[in-house]
Amino acid sequence: MDSNNFPAKVELHVHLDGAIRPETLFETAKRRNIELKEKTVEELRERVTESKNEGLGAMLDIFGYFLPIIKGDKQAIAQIAKDFCEDSAKQNIYYAEVRFAPHILADENLSARDVVKIVLDALKTSCAEHKIIIKAILCCMRNIPKIAKDVLQLCNEFKNDGVVGIDVAGAEFFPTPTEIRDVFKEAHKLGIHRTAHAGEIGGPPNVKEAVDDMFAERVGHGYHVIEDDHLYKQIRNDNIHLETCLVSSFRTQAFLGEIQNHPVTTFLKDDANFSLNTDDPTVFATCLHNDYAMAEKAGFSKDQIIKTIFNAARSSFLPKAEQKDLLNHLKKIYPGDY
Ligand SMILES: [Zn+2]
Repeated sequence: MDSNNFPAKVELHVHLDGAIRPETLFETAKRRNIELKEKTVEELRERVTESKNEGLGAMLDIFGYFLPIIKGDKQAIAQIAKDFCEDSAKQNIYYAEVRFAPHILADENLSARDVVKIVLDALKTSCAEHKIIIKAILCCMRNIPKIAKDVLQLCNEFKNDGVVGIDVAGAEFFPTPTEIRDVFKEAHKLGIHRTAHAGEIGGPPNVKEAVDDMFAERVGHGYHVIEDDHLYKQIRNDNIHLETCLVSSFRTQAFLGEIQNHPVTTFLKDDANFSLNTDDPTVFATCLHNDYAMAEKAGFSKDQIIKTIFNAARSSFLPKAEQKDLLNHLKKIYPGDY
C-alpha cells in the first residue's frame, strides 16, 4: 500500500522524545561537548533505535541513554519540535497531537514551563511553514507523581496556545498514584481533555481506572480491554477512543502473536472508536506508513484505514470549531461516508 494512498493522515499518539532524529542528537552532543561512544550518526542511530521486537526494557534503556543529551537544552528542544513538523509533513500527516513530559526535558537551568514554551513556539512557526496543524499534550509520569499538579497547571496556562490535553505516561502500574488521579479529576472539572496510557501491558483494571476514575476520553493503547467483556462494551457505548499503535505493540511485546489476531482486529470487527499511531517513531525505527501497512496485513481495507483517520479527527482534542474544519478538510480529500 502506497503512502500516497493517504494524502492526509491524522496521528493522536506520538511522543516528541520518541521521535527525535539521531542527527539532531548527534549534533547536540557535539555542540554540548557530551562524549558519546558512537562516532557516527549511523552508530548512534543503531544505539537509539529498536528495530527488533525486544520488549519494553530495551525501549526504556534507549530513552535513558539519549535523554541526558538534550535535557535542558533550548536549542535542541526547539530543533526537535521543528524536525517533528517537517517529518510529519513529509509523511502527509495533516494533523497531529504530539505529547511530551516537560519535566523530563527540563533541568535546573530550564524550567518545565520554558520547555513547553519552546516546543509550542517551534511548532507554531514550523506548522505555518508546512501548512499542517500540530497541537501538544502534556504528560504526567506514573513514576513521578509529584510533577502532576504542575503539569495540570501548564495545561491550563497554555490551553489557548497550543496545548490541547493531559496524559499520563511512564511504566504502567496499578493503581495510578492518587496525586495523578486527582489531577485528572481536576482536569475534567477545568475542561482540559484527558488521555491515559492504560491496557498496553496492564490489564482491564487499568483501563477501568482511566475511564471511571480519571475521566479519560481516550486511552493510549488499551489492547487488554478485550479481556473484560463488560468493560469493552462500556468503552464502546461511551465512545471512548483507543489510540492503538501496532508496530509499537510488537516492539514492546505488549502483544505477542500473529497480527491477524491482534486486538485491533477485534476493534475493527466491532466498529470500536480507534486510530492507528506510531507511539515512538524513531525509537521503534518506524513511521505511520508502517502502521498502516501492518493494519493492511491484519486485514484492513483502504476504506477501513481511512475510517481510522476520521475516528482520530473526531476524537481529537481540538476545540469543536477547529475539529469541524479538520473534518471538512478530510472530507474534501476522502469523499465518502466515513
Ligand atoms: Zn505512548
